[in-house]
Amino acid sequence: MGAHRLRSADGITHIGGRAMVNETVYEGRCFCGAVQFEVSGTPVAMGYCHCDSCRHWSAGPVNAFTLWKPDALKVTQGGDRIDTFNKTPISYRKWCKQCGGHLFTEHPTMGLVDVYAAMIPTLSFEPGVHVNYQEAVLHIHDGKPKMKDMPKEMGGSGVTLPE
Ligand SMILES: [Zn+2]
Ligand SMILES: [Zn+2]
Repeated sequence: MGAHRLRSADGITHIGGRAMVNETVYEGRCFCGAVQFEVSGTPVAMGYCHCDSCRHWSAGPVNAFTLWKPDALKVTQGGDRIDTFNKTPISYRKWCKQCGGHLFTEHPTMGLVDVYAAMIPTLSFEPGVHVNYQEAVLHIHDGKPKMKDMPKEMGGSGVTLPE
């Protein structure tokens, strides 16, 4: 992973995104609190997805994502209340059966899980990229790269668009 550095909410700088002795843990819970989980370490990437699927699923104009290796995520309570819907094989969207609150989305083909930034409020959200910007309905002028679809290393075209 090279020597890139990501700063966690506690101010500790983790190098390379791999586990050190004291990993930072971020706690999340669904809308009603029946489902609780935690993610530990450092996200692989953070940003905004503008795709039609994320917008319809979330009923919002944009999805703020944080991507993690699957083993960084641990459901600590209410795992039996989690249900899944996969409209496509690349996204298994998870929610709480009791309150309908969204939790996270598994991306098995990428080997990553998207824990919605809104679900882990103690994480310092530092978006690095916008993806699927060709489908955007809310244009965000923040100077961050706007990928037409996905970065090349994630199977996309790698093409960027103007804001
Ligand atoms: Zn719930
Ligand atoms: Zn999306």
